[in-house]
Amino acid sequence: MIDHDTYPELERGTVAADEMSLRPQNNYVNVLVLRELQSHAVFTTNGQDADLANVAVGDGDERDGYSPGLMFMRKQTGSDRRFGKALQRDLDLFDEDEDECTMQVNEMCQDCPECVLYGSAASNDGDAVSITSRVVYDTAYTLRDATVVVDEKFQNAPGGDYAKTAEATIREPDFFEPGTLFPCVVTLRDATPTELAFVLAITRQNKRYGAATSRLGRTKNHVLGVYAGSEEGPANLELTRDAIVGLRDSEETDYETLRDVTGAENIDPELVGELVRESFQQRIETDGLALDRVSPDTVSSVIDTATSDAFGEALADQRESSRAFLDAAGE
Ligand SMILES: [Zn+2]
Repeated sequence: MIDHDTYPELERGTVAADEMSLRPQNNYVNVLVLRELQSHAVFTTNGQDADLANVAVGDGDERDGYSPGLMFMRKQTGSDRRFGKALQRDLDLFDEDEDECTMQVNEMCQDCPECVLYGSAASNDGDAVSITSRVVYDTAYTLRDATVVVDEKFQNAPGGDYAKTAEATIREPDFFEPGTLFPCVVTLRDATPTELAFVLAITRQNKRYGAATSRLGRTKNHVLGVYAGSEEGPANLELTRDAIVGLRDSEETDYETLRDVTGAENIDPELVGELVRESFQQRIETDGLALDRVSPDTVSSVIDTATSDAFGEALADQRESSRAFLDAAGE
């Protein structure tokens, strides 16, 4: 069982399945993740250009700026939701004669743990409610500049001429390079221990983000830590900035300036993971955040259960609690 009896540490930050309430409370679990691209990936909103920002990093005289590539919130939620719904099917959550849940807006079933946790719009038939998501994602930033993490690929149009006009060059979408890292926090509010386990299972097992072709967007999600308490943790941008400064200052690297870091050809994911975790812990202390790290033993035990076939039963139990929670909205 994934509940407070088995994991007393989760009494902070989660609610018991039979105490799910429509009235928001301040129970938060922050899952700290480092997303590492293992193949080229496409993250774009206009179908062509990588999404970029301009960000200041460092303090005082050492202050500098760079242009990170972005992984927008919905690039993460879209992929995780699709994976979560598939996971429910794999774990036989639905009866044989039952319609399985879909990704179609306004046609989600509103009757599965995924819909109730991630939220869904009212359906077209009119009488259903809208469910507010209790999982919050945040736009993620690369640690390095777009000039090194984004590759603009041009494909020459067929034709025999040595000289080509501009129109003859077909622009492919921008690709993020393998090895690109995105520090991310996924925050659950008023979730049950089983819902947390569900998000951890998705995070650990989902390996595709961005454009939905099989050879692109391969991603490894490193779960760096889980922090529970009564508030949200630091933003992705703060963690990313801290990690850049940390890389410059680390004895394990020979970067001298922030620009050496943001312009580096490659970067060590393990060291970045450590620095992001240090940053999260440091910000809990300096900002006085009411959050505690859940012990790594508890986290790996929850992940082991959540990624096993036995999780199907826990998810079926969660479905009953989610139904009761939703029924209360209709009263
Ligand atoms: Zn559903």
